[in-house]
Amino acid sequence: MAAAAAAKGCDVTVLEFQDRVMSRVTSASVSRFFEQLHGRNGVRFVFGAAVTAVEGSQRAERIVTADGSVHPADVVLAGIGVVPNQELAGAAGLECRDGIHVDGDGLTSDPAIYAVGDVTRFMSTIDGASQRLECIQNALAQADRAAAHITGEDAGEPEIPWFWTVQQGIRLQTAGVRHPEDEVIVRGAPAEGKFSVVYLRNGCLAAVDTIGSLTDFRPAKKLIAHKARIDPLLAADPGTRLTDAVFAAA
Ligand SMILES: Cc1cc2nc3c(=O)[nH]c(=O)nc-3n(C[C@H](O)[C@H](O)[C@H](O)COP(=O)(O)OP(=O)(O)OC[C@H]3O[C@@H](n4cnc5c(N)ncnc54)[C@H](O)[C@@H]3O)c2cc1C
Repeated sequence: MAAAAAAKGCDVTVLEFQDRVMSRVTSASVSRFFEQLHGRNGVRFVFGAAVTAVEGSQRAERIVTADGSVHPADVVLAGIGVVPNQELAGAAGLECRDGIHVDGDGLTSDPAIYAVGDVTRFMSTIDGASQRLECIQNALAQADRAAAHITGEDAGEPEIPWFWTVQQGIRLQTAGVRHPEDEVIVRGAPAEGKFSVVYLRNGCLAAVDTIGSLTDFRPAKKLIAHKARIDPLLAADPGTRLTDAVFAAA
């Protein structure tokens, strides 16, 4: 939204509570790349900005942050996350805690009720972590699996979660779900606008971000599914294919 507004000639300021963009979903190297990209295209960021008030007489005219700064505004857009609407499910007696609990087939704690999409919380097939995934691909994959379960068909292996966003014309596509404590390996040069970031958990490929190039995306998705052990030195070399950075089985 910031990119689109800046492209239309608007003076855009993003007030971000955290110290970088997309901190929940990606590593610092990817955040810095996109901050610089947006910066070159006229988007200004203020990090560590806790909004305390939106002020104005007839409409929003300014934003006040915790440090007392005042940011004049003609238009204010709030993008501060979502809370699952689980009240109906809770009233029906379904197990809910920050999302309706479902299994890999979308089945809730009531065997007659399924739930899919943003509102659900479920266990990662990669590492067993409890998660909510807010993306179209997850909603569609869960719907497929729930339909297969209802009709008694084989849904096959669950798909590795994946996501994409295009910002300032550059595509960020992610496979797997990164954790903050993962080992982070940058493949390629961010300055050239095409690179990947590989995330290793206990030595195994857990997630990948591809930026401006999809070369690593499909191989990484397969390697994540197979919990492939990766040689970090080889993975750091963009001249080595990711599939060639896999440790041979002992
Ligand atoms: C601004 C924005 C940008 C996004 N961009 C991307 C993107 O680039 N890529 C991506 O993968 N995802 C993106 N998403 C996320 C994506 O839209 C969601 O993950 C996806 O729509 C989830 O599908 P869903 O069916 O779970 O929920 P929804 O699409 O939210 O559908 C739920 C529906 O249920 C209805 N509903 C709620 N309560 C009741 C009730 N009690 N009775 C009947 N109906 C009810 C709602 O009105 C709604 O129509 C974006 C989301 C937003 C808000």
